[in-house]
Amino acid sequence: MRPIHYVAALVAALALAGCSTPVTVPEPPAAVVREQPVAMPLVLMLQGSIEQGAMVVGRTAPGSRVTLGERALRVAADGTFVFGLDRDAPAEVALQVAAADGNTLTSTLAVKPREYNIQRVTGISERIMNPSAKDLARIEVESAQIAAARARDDERTDFLQSFIWPADGPITGVYGSQRYYNGVPKRPHYGVDVGIPTGTPVKAPAAGIVTLAHPDMFYSGGTVIIDHGHGVSSTLMHLSKVLVTEGQRVQQGEVVAKSGATGRSSGPHLDWRMNWFGERIDAQKLVPPR
Ligand SMILES: [Zn+2]
Repeated sequence: MRPIHYVAALVAALALAGCSTPVTVPEPPAAVVREQPVAMPLVLMLQGSIEQGAMVVGRTAPGSRVTLGERALRVAADGTFVFGLDRDAPAEVALQVAAADGNTLTSTLAVKPREYNIQRVTGISERIMNPSAKDLARIEVESAQIAAARARDDERTDFLQSFIWPADGPITGVYGSQRYYNGVPKRPHYGVDVGIPTGTPVKAPAAGIVTLAHPDMFYSGGTVIIDHGHGVSSTLMHLSKVLVTEGQRVQQGEVVAKSGATGRSSGPHLDWRMNWFGERIDAQKLVPPR
């Protein structure tokens, strides 16, 4: 049997926290045509800090199958793939590449843990704090709508664009914070909050397809979800006016809504969340620092 040898170039470009490293993926290695069949070097390149909340873009040989843990990732024709690491991602994740020629490579990635702060939010109405049975039924329906929008797995690679801020303003809330609403501990906060007056134009942080356009959800108020491909999506919340419709293609920078204070919000702001399917990723890591 022919020996199989691997050359694994594992490039974890350690992006500085919050820095604006454009998401560009290096070209694949040249010279892939050989006269006689030999084991091809299997290359795996990753870009982005491997830490909780990160979006990680990778590239490997076209035609490869890539799995993260037990999960198969979508691999583009040029070998590009992406995955997200949740707020509480474990200390290690296994990434496996199986090339078309049968070579396999397994890499154990060390996931850098992060510390999250505590944020207290007051002034939330009694109705929002203690939803009625009717409101709970509504919440269930809306959660399913949001989950369905984020479940889309499209071959577009709009997520390769360098993301831009959807609005300019002071940061009033960050990813991962443990939230207390009116003193009651609730789920962590997954978005980045930008304090802006109601009516401020909100732009698409990257191109994509609108998968949800809702004028008023119980918790998130006016809500727009934009799918950037491969399961990467942006959710824009607490909007006063939604200016797009579901199925619409939007370009980066296009105004999709006006900001507001709808839903569970203590004042006017934009809440921008990013997901890789159900995993929460930190939008702030993808845009220039503020
Ligand atoms: Zn928020």
